[in-house]
Amino acid sequence: MLSPPSNWLPQAPLQPLQLDWLATAGIEVAILRLDQIDPLISGNKWFKLVEHLKAADRVGAEGIISLGGAHSNHLHALAAAGKRLGFKTVGLLRGHEQETPTVQDLQAFGMQLHWLGYGGYRARNQPGFWEPWLAQYPQLYAVPEGGGSLTGALGCAAIKQQVQAQLHTLGWSDFHAWWLACGTGTTLAGLLLAEAGAHPVYGALAVPDDHGVAPQVESILQAAGQGNGRYELIDASRGGFAKVDPALLEFIEQTEQASGVPLEPLYTGKALLALKLQVEAGRFAAGTRLIFIHTGGLQGRRGFIASP
Ligand SMILES: *Cc1c(COP(=O)(O)O)cnc(C)c1O
Repeated sequence: MLSPPSNWLPQAPLQPLQLDWLATAGIEVAILRLDQIDPLISGNKWFKLVEHLKAADRVGAEGIISLGGAHSNHLHALAAAGKRLGFKTVGLLRGHEQETPTVQDLQAFGMQLHWLGYGGYRARNQPGFWEPWLAQYPQLYAVPEGGGSLTGALGCAAIKQQVQAQLHTLGWSDFHAWWLACGTGTTLAGLLLAEAGAHPVYGALAVPDDHGVAPQVESILQAAGQGNGRYELIDASRGGFAKVDPALLEFIEQTEQASGVPLEPLYTGKALLALKLQVEAGRFAAGTRLIFIHTGGLQGRRGFIASP
């Protein structure tokens, strides 16, 4: 079995986020700490994996083969899950062999690595890409880059349940909207499917506008047979994916000091800074209650910011 036993439920704490700019605007934010679901496994990538693991179980696979870069949160969550739950993992990596903290973890978790170079990695979406790999590893099940697609989205429905189950701990009976970082939009799409219109979802784009997040969200909604999700995408990329600027780094440092919540500069830092800009622009009325999803990614920041 690859999928976890039913009594193994990673729990993300839901915590009040206290920051002066929120208090000034009279806005309450609770942060769902997907970075704290498990000692080894972290972030939204776990939720995107769950339904893939079940699909692998259904075909009797013994493990998972997938791909990503040398800082990949997806491969990290996959390797950690393999270690935690006892299944085999193989990672196909972009570029040429290098030692990053992520790669060291992948190896420590027992993931078998193959480096594809850049050209080889670019071929990942071509028909027939998986054939030689599945010939080499016939017992493995292939998961697309980042764990995307409807299958990936469906596992993210659990994120809504985790919030619903903990709202009372904040003394909230309800809230107004969700706010989260988007890369491919898979997590946002999964939340839209679970919400079915109950609350609007704001997606802070960690990638530039032309990365096709909106079409990807729409195609997942369509594949699920669900129309018109209540969502809005907000540019939060600050000039490009993984582009980091001094104002962002200063914001992350101040926020960590004030709230104790660790952030990284690619997704969660940009998403929270985008929220601050919208709050300061008067986007939300006083009294608004928001759920901010901490999507994890802290393992990847070791390549950017020295760990405290
Ligand atoms: C992958 C990732 C995202 C983006 O998730 P999508 O489902 O691709 O939109 C956001 N935050 C972190 C930390 C991630 O690793």
